Amino acid sequence: MNYVKLFGDKEIVNGYAERIEALTAGLEVPLTLMEVCGTHTMAISRFGIRSLLPPKVRLISGPGCPVCVTPNHYLDRAIALSRLPDVIIATFGDMMRVPGSSSSLMEERASGADIRIVNSPLDGVALAARNPDRKIIFPGIGFEATAPAVAASILMAARQKLDNYLVLAGHKTMPKAMEMLAAEPAAAIHGFICPAHVSAVIGTDAYLPLAERHHIPCVVTGFEPADIMQGVEMLIRQKIAGEANVENQYRRVVKRDGNSKAREVMSQVFTPCDCHWRGIGIIPGSGLKIRRSYARFDAEKVLPVKVEEQEEQKGCRCGDVLKGKIQPFDCPLFGMQCTPEGPVGPCMVSSEGSCAAYYNH
Ligand code: SF4
Repeated sequence: MNYVKLFGDKEIVNGYAERIEALTAGLEVPLTLMEVCGTHTMAISRFGIRSLLPPKVRLISGPGCPVCVTPNHYLDRAIALSRLPDVIIATFGDMMRVPGSSSSLMEERASGADIRIVNSPLDGVALAARNPDRKIIFPGIGFEATAPAVAASILMAARQKLDNYLVLAGHKTMPKAMEMLAAEPAAAIHGFICPAHVSAVIGTDAYLPLAERHHIPCVVTGFEPADIMQGVEMLIRQKIAGEANVENQYRRVVKRDGNSKAREVMSQVFTPCDCHWRGIGIIPGSGLKIRRSYARFDAEKVLPVKVEEQEEQKGCRCGDVLKGKIQPFDCPLFGMQCTPEGPVGPCMVSSEGSCAAYYNH
């Protein structure tokens, strides 16, 4: 039997849809469920999950796209670093088109900066080994799912005694942001579809304080249609029963205690710090900065550049989209001045951004 196929099986998925409809028929207030993972955002849009749900269930997207929550000044710093002599920026491709205050890495490359697309931070370490006279800077953004690999790249550079590999630290951690969102009255979130990749590292227990403090149901789900529909049903059942537990629909990948090895590597190199989320603001303790003992790999310490704080793109409502206050199509620029070909804000740049997902699907 092909078990993978079962997760997309029409009958199974429709079965969830029917049960969800029956469960919510008597509800007076529609339920709003938020996912906080770019891959969920894409999957929900691509599989048309919203069209399978009754009007009493509303799925909204939170700040789960790494590029979308990366603030202007981080991009501006990466751009300023790319203009320094003897520097190579080694970055993932989705960072290239993200607009900073007045430029992007793509524009800088067109103007002559040495910016190379890599598949992994370890490619950045290899680049450093091959180019001892240049400084290789890897912009490290994302959440707990990618932070361990960036930490491992710093450990590898240390082992190889490289003094020309640097990371521009910009990683964020998810549970603190979810707590902030749960406390936002305007979003009125009734349950969280918890991020799967992040949860594979931090484990389901990491959401217990969130569920307890805010009395909000949390379910970690996978990415297939049946995964998401089952996760939605689990959240609705909890909500109707007045419960606020952390459940795990994605047990084939995610464990209660996550991946301790990955967390160990991460905490060997990084330490928590207050962090600016684009469109949201500072969330205390929600970022990761490089520990003092690894400061020689910290781009901010080794190559400090002055960057003016700038406002976000005028008219872009990414902040409200990321907080679940509005849907992408409520932004007046959506699909008009702002499209994936000509994005105004980061939520339209990344394929995992809410605005791009709504536009494309
Ligand atoms: Fe920003 Fe464009 Fe989304 Fe509007 S549609 S919130 S301008 S990214």
